[in-house]
Order: sequence, then structure tokens, then C-alpha cells
Amino acid sequence: MSTANSVMVFIQQEDGKIADVSLELVCKARDLANKLGVEVTAAIFGKSVAKAAGELIPYGVDEVFYVEDERLLHYTPVPYTKLMIQTIKDREPQIVLYGATTEGRDIAPRVASNLKVGLTADCTELQIGDHVQKGTEYKDILYQIRPAFGGNIIATIVSPEKKPQMATVREGVMKMEAPDPSRKGTITKVDSIITDDDIHTEIIERIKEEKLVDLKGAQIIVSGGVGVGSKENFKLIYDLAHTIGAEVGASRAAVDAGYIDHDHQVGQTGTTVRPKLYIACGISGSIQHRAGMDESSRIIAINSDPEAPIFGIAQYGIVGDLKEVIPNFIKAYKARV
Ligand SMILES: Cc1cc2nc3c(=O)[nH]c(=O)nc-3n(C[C@H](O)[C@H](O)[C@H](O)COP(=O)(O)OP(=O)(O)OC[C@H]3O[C@@H](n4cnc5c(N)ncnc54)[C@H](O)[C@@H]3O)c2cc1C
Repeated sequence: MSTANSVMVFIQQEDGKIADVSLELVCKARDLANKLGVEVTAAIFGKSVAKAAGELIPYGVDEVFYVEDERLLHYTPVPYTKLMIQTIKDREPQIVLYGATTEGRDIAPRVASNLKVGLTADCTELQIGDHVQKGTEYKDILYQIRPAFGGNIIATIVSPEKKPQMATVREGVMKMEAPDPSRKGTITKVDSIITDDDIHTEIIERIKEEKLVDLKGAQIIVSGGVGVGSKENFKLIYDLAHTIGAEVGASRAAVDAGYIDHDHQVGQTGTTVRPKLYIACGISGSIQHRAGMDESSRIIAINSDPEAPIFGIAQYGIVGDLKEVIPNFIKAYKARV
């Protein structure tokens, strides 16, 4: 099968380690490509990325194009954009996906404006479907789906007349499937077209902030909402989390109230999580909160209002004041272990 018309993913990497969002997008690209009957391609650039290129095949890529160049050690916009534009011109994909990360949000609009194609930012879902516009029917178009107007509507955006159709996709919203080591694919080294004139920025030093909250990697999350009542009361959420080995999450309203930092926010404008167990304490279950946690394997809700919408998606519900329920929960747990 030819790779022209493929679904292509821009692969983000650092020191040869591929970003999770890129692997999530490869899995989604596989799904879209299967529906379209085309191949999945990937573009990866860096100082030393041949090994990382090989790691993409088990996730569903048919052909990886990689460029190695000393000057690509760290992401900088000009050389990376130049390479991505060239890769798209050479390979003619019909769809190109980028993570909605700092890097993806930087390169994707540059590529879009150079190629004069559309770009939808921050998608939360992608589908294939048909579209009729001014009497013309477009088959197998990319539906680029994202919340709009402050999250009050879900917009489906299409760009049927220009190829490639391009989107950035939020981290964590697409599911990363298990890799299949037996999958076969092609790894193609492409010559670097970078010249010294393309290097406009010299990176003198990079300071990495230590990641203190790891919601995405957590198997268990205890989240608190406005119902927790105060910053001081959030100690209850931390106590329960420490007791059962969980990470601490929060609703946006709890973050806005100053109970906890934004790093802990779960939901549409926070982190999307899929833990084995999610315990929602004093969280009503707004659509924006659910968008970030409703694919948790098990949900327990603690809420004083029996009508709270969170009970509609929870497998286990405890109606009561969390200030009484949580200490009892901890006591009961400690008694069993
Ligand atoms: C564009 C946009 C993006 C948004 N993004 C996000 C997002 O990413 N994440 C997010 O969470 N929200 C987001 N929101 C906000 C969202 O709409 C809700 O306002 C928010 O989720 C509500 O938080 P909450 O459930 O903590 O508060 P509330 O809705 O006020 O619910 C508090 C709950 O606590 C219960 N309660 C009160 N006291 C107790 C007690 N003592 N014991 C037990 N239960 C008690 C109440 O019964 C109630 O159900 C967004 C909104 C918009 C417009």
C-alpha cells in the first residue's frame, strides 16, 4: 500500500523518549486509517532518534520518516517546521495530527499557515464521516471535535477542501493501546535539509521542573471538590489518598476557590485521567469534570446530595457528609490491612 494519503502523526520526543501524547495519537491514527483504508505514517526529528523511530511500529505505524541532525538536539521552531513542511509535501498525507502540547501548539500553526490549510486546536475527539457543503458531498472527511464557546457546545469542525486536514489533540484524551511487538513496518531515514541559517536560537541551558503531581500515571485518584469546604479540609483528601496509595485530584471549582493548585485539576481544562479507581469527594459531576474522568475503571462518589449527577456514573455511591465519611473510610481500610 502507498503511504500517500496516509494519516500522519508528528512525533514529539525528548532525548529519544517519545511523548505519551504521540503514542496516543498513533493509536488514534491507526483507528482512523483503518476506517479510511490507508496507512499510518509518522515523522520524528532529533539528534538521535533512529531507536525511537523503531519503537513506533508496535503502536500501529506503517512507515516512520526520521531525520537526524546534531542541530535538532532540542526543539526549536524554524528547523522543525521546515522539516515537517517538507515531509508533508513529499508524502502527501490526508490528515496530520499533533499533540496539543507547547511544542505541538507551536509547530502546527506554522505548518498550517505555510501550507495554507486549516487547523483545529485542542480536539477531544476525531472521527471520519461525510459532509455536504454548498451542494458538494465530501466523503470520508475528518471530523475535528472540540468544546467551544466556553465548553457550552461541542463543535464539529471540518476542512474538506484542503489537504492535509490538521488537528492538535489534547494529551490523555485518546487511549494508548498496548504495543504489538510482532507488527511490521518500514523505517525510512530522510536526509536533513537543515542549514546553519535555519538555526536562529541557541539554547544555553535547560532547567527541568520536577513533576510533583502525576495524575495521568496514577492507578488510584482521590479527588476533592467544592464540597470539601476549605483548603484546610483538603487534608482529609490527602489523608485518604496517602492511606490507599493514591494521587490527589480536584475539580476546577475547588482549584478556583484556592483549595488546591491547578496541577491537580481533572476535567476538560485540566488533566484527562483513566485510573483503576477514582474517588470523587464533594464533586457534583459537571459535564466538564466528567469529560476528564468518566473512563475510570471504577468510580466511587461521596456526596451529601443524593441527586448529585456524579452518582449517575459512579459504580458505588456514599450519600453523606465527607467530613464523616472519609475518616470512617480510612478507619475501615486500616482495619482490613
Ligand atoms: C469552559 C469550562 C471548562 C471547565 N473545565 C472544568 C474542568 O476541567 N474540571 C472541572 O472540574 N470543572 C470544570 N469546569 C467547571 C464545571 O462546570 C463545574 O463548575 C465544576 O466542575 C464544579 O465543581 P464541584 O463539583 O467541585 O462544585 P459544585 O458543582 O459546587 O459541587 C459541589 C458538590 O459538593 C457536594 N457537597 C457539599 N458539601 C458536602 C459535604 N460536606 N460532603 C459531601 N458532599 C458535599 C454538593 O452536594 C455538590 O454536589 C469548567 C467550566 C467551564 C465553563
